Amino acid sequence: MNSASAPGPVDRFGRRFRNLRVSLTAACNYACTYCVPDGKRLLRADRELDAEQMLRAIELLVAGAGIDRLRLTGGEPLVTPKFDYLFPRLMDLGLEDVSLTTNGQLLGPKVPLLAASGLQRINISLDTLDPKAFRALARGGDLATVLAAIDACLDAGLKVKLNMVPVRSSNRSQIEPMLRYALDRGMELRYIELMRMGHLSHSAAFDQDFIGMEEILALIGEHHSFERTEAPFDSTARRFAVAGGGAFGIIPNESEPFCSSCTRLRLSSEGDLYGCLSSSAHQALRPLLALPREEALAQLPALLEATLKAKQPVAFTGGTMVMKFIGG
Ligand code: SAM
Repeated sequence: MNSASAPGPVDRFGRRFRNLRVSLTAACNYACTYCVPDGKRLLRADRELDAEQMLRAIELLVAGAGIDRLRLTGGEPLVTPKFDYLFPRLMDLGLEDVSLTTNGQLLGPKVPLLAASGLQRINISLDTLDPKAFRALARGGDLATVLAAIDACLDAGLKVKLNMVPVRSSNRSQIEPMLRYALDRGMELRYIELMRMGHLSHSAAFDQDFIGMEEILALIGEHHSFERTEAPFDSTARRFAVAGGGAFGIIPNESEPFCSSCTRLRLSSEGDLYGCLSSSAHQALRPLLALPREEALAQLPALLEATLKAKQPVAFTGGTMVMKFIGG
């Protein structure tokens, strides 16, 4: 669908929703230090949509909001049985792109099914290659299991992107080794600048642990030559081509905010729509799920208008929400 004919509201910056991120569940088998403060594993939320409701919600948003790209996330999307029900059905919606963000812990045995269903690409979160640092940061899971799942994805022909959040007190020394690991295997590594979310939103820990784009590039520059390349208009990542082959990206939430071209819409596991990670403002989609389709579609534009208004004009300003609730 070209954007001129796509349904859904447009704001004064020309932003419309095109990318839908769905948090299948708030539950996670990790408790990453930057995501949750107390090391407690994340549980499913009290009133999560069931698989049928989730499917209906996504179908509605695809039809009424001009969504053409879908990403399943969480929490950890592979800890819920909803995933196995939803995934093949979502692949049949005729979207331009369906993808998945996972920590990789439960991924290995699912790779054949994912590849057979037509999944082309997958994002796997990995913050370090050091087993000790991994345990300290993720507070769950096992590094060797993730590395084996990455190999299984590559063997199955999936395009793999790795997501790493650089955190000064734990994985700064891994910034270049992670890139080498990714380049050696033909994967693109994306560094996600630490975001002021949840317990980090108003905390000195954020300032101490934040590592910005300039520092990341300086560390990489000690070992590699690279140059900045063009990225699509609504891409959140700045991309760099490495001399000798391969590329990496940086998602510079703080260093070079990209809010003015953000096209993301988020659906939480409880059925709420969010327009921005900086804002806890949300609209309940759940009541529409019980309505006949035409009636639901008629009521959707008002919800989308209100959701679009939550987007920041320029920069991410931080939020008290934890990523798991609305999906990273
Ligand atoms: N469990 C899945 C995973 O690990 O990929 C999906 C959900 S997780 C919330 C999605 C991404 O958000 C992960 O790459 C994680 O590192 C990132 N994330 C969580 N909290 C963050 C924060 N405060 N700043 C930057 N990235 C964060």
